[in-house]
Amino acid sequence: MIGLLSATAAGAAARDRLAAAWPDRTRVYPGPSLKEAAARAFAECDGLVCFLAAGATVRLLAPLLGDKAADPGVVCVDEAQQHAVALLGGHAGGANALAREVSAVLPGCRPVITTATDAAGLPGLDTLGWRVEGAVPAVTRAMLDGAPVALRADACWPLPALPPNVRETAAGSDEESLAGHVARDAPYGAPAPAATLRITDRTVPAGPELAVLRPPSLAVGVGASRGVSADELLDAVEQALAGAELAPGSVAVLATVDAKAGEPGLLEAADRLGVPVRTYPAEALSAVPVPNPSAAPRAAVGTPSVAEAAALLAAGAPEGGAGLLVPKTRSVPRNGGAAMATVAVARRRARGRLAVVGLGPGARDLLTPRAREELQRASVVVGLDQYVAQIRDLLRPGTRVAESGLGAEEERARTAVAEARAGRAVALIGSGDAGVYAMASPALAQASADVDVVGVPGVTAALAASAALGAPLGHDHAAISLSDLHTPWEVIERRVRAAAAADFVVTFYNPRSRGRDWQLPKALGILAEHRAPDTPVGVARAVGRPGEHVVVSTLAELAPEQVDMMTVVTVGNTATRTVAGRMVTPRGYRWQQ
Ligand code: SAH
Repeated sequence: MIGLLSATAAGAAARDRLAAAWPDRTRVYPGPSLKEAAARAFAECDGLVCFLAAGATVRLLAPLLGDKAADPGVVCVDEAQQHAVALLGGHAGGANALAREVSAVLPGCRPVITTATDAAGLPGLDTLGWRVEGAVPAVTRAMLDGAPVALRADACWPLPALPPNVRETAAGSDEESLAGHVARDAPYGAPAPAATLRITDRTVPAGPELAVLRPPSLAVGVGASRGVSADELLDAVEQALAGAELAPGSVAVLATVDAKAGEPGLLEAADRLGVPVRTYPAEALSAVPVPNPSAAPRAAVGTPSVAEAAALLAAGAPEGGAGLLVPKTRSVPRNGGAAMATVAVARRRARGRLAVVGLGPGARDLLTPRAREELQRASVVVGLDQYVAQIRDLLRPGTRVAESGLGAEEERARTAVAEARAGRAVALIGSGDAGVYAMASPALAQASADVDVVGVPGVTAALAASAALGAPLGHDHAAISLSDLHTPWEVIERRVRAAAAADFVVTFYNPRSRGRDWQLPKALGILAEHRAPDTPVGVARAVGRPGEHVVVSTLAELAPEQVDMMTVVTVGNTATRTVAGRMVTPRGYRWQQ
């Protein structure tokens, strides 16, 4: 919940505007005492927006400040609503994001972000959704200062791009001192790293210049008797991890059999660990080969193994090649008596991330915020050179770019999938929507189940053109590509005829190029067999780009020479009209006719 505080009439008006925009997310904390309202809001909310001067907000909240990890994020908005300042809890408290959101609601308001990592385009170590331990401020400072930072990862995890001063070095054994390692790994003459960032699920000795990111790599399988206490379970998890020198911060999930889904001690233990519970049917667990099957669980819940089998399944076995790190161990009740739980630990293989990102037609303000986020979430960007050029300025420093020219679709798809399978965070980009006559299909035809795929929709050319032409797509419509490079012309022609007979509005992609000039007149001719010569035809060239040119013509008058590969052509149906120079296809409701 986001608490709203204000003092003046202007502040109250802005406050109410925000409350009206976000009725389910906000709660107004009215006076009369601002101090009391602030204390209540601070205790009850995970975000605060204070329509107060920065100084007043600081004085009000200073006595309430506690732990950076637990305090709400605080944004203050000035009297004229020109600035939404992320004042406290920029990352952990979400204030940077909240300041951006508030600015989007209040007209003319700009976010003011002062956390160094955001300002410099660096990913904050605490923004990945992973636990991070150790000397986080020191390592962040070194990253920002451009000082050499050694990155040592046990596996390749899909991290965003890190700046060039963060250099990957081989991860070694934990017995050796970190300092010794780093000095030995550094090439002759290279400056010794000022700090080290480790990515590991193993326990590591703390160091003054060492931060550790905990990847979500451990699945803990749990077998539990009815009535087991959360304490007993957590003790067992802690001991199992400690015995194998594994870090609790990397536990991603507690897994068990369906029959235990409502076991209160298990749910409480998961809650205290901050991880979800995943359950599996007994039959699924029975099918997993385990080192220590036993008769007791078979009798009770119908599978010879709960802890080991559930750990392995949650870790992605059998496809993921997960391995058991800690075989089944029994809990030791605090007050003596019989053991009520068993636990086992398996490691998940790191999974890469393939984001298939549509960039929209070209204009920067038609690039969605989600697409922008994915571009900055990636360490590798794959795309056609001209599309890369469109968004290069948005990439984080250190992003690796694999660009290629027209015609290299298969190669781009292969590269993107191979990088993701190697565990990296990849953004495969395409103009418009990346799934429309674009890279999503060749890439996903190759992508195996061992990568996570995220699709980000983009404004496809037909929609950008439609908005510029008026309302041509108000009723049923089809998109047809006239490129016969990979599709035989007979197939294309059959579809054009079907669309013509069915009276679809039709948008032609890839309508005409220097070497392909007869297809468009031919397709228009087929449509003209079913539609009047004065049927409106929209020609939209370079929509959202420099040189945008949009005209409404007719089937009889369209000059194919004005059409090129940067154009889409939208042909109206038999009901489409031109009104005040704009294409309008009626929705077909009887009352409109
Ligand atoms: N994935 C893209 C389409 C790729 S096919 C999308 O969703 O928009 C390439 C064709 O798309 C071009 O030949 C042209 O017909 C059309 N196109 C792409 N961008 C365009 C733009 N900005 N203006 C007009 N047409 C465009």
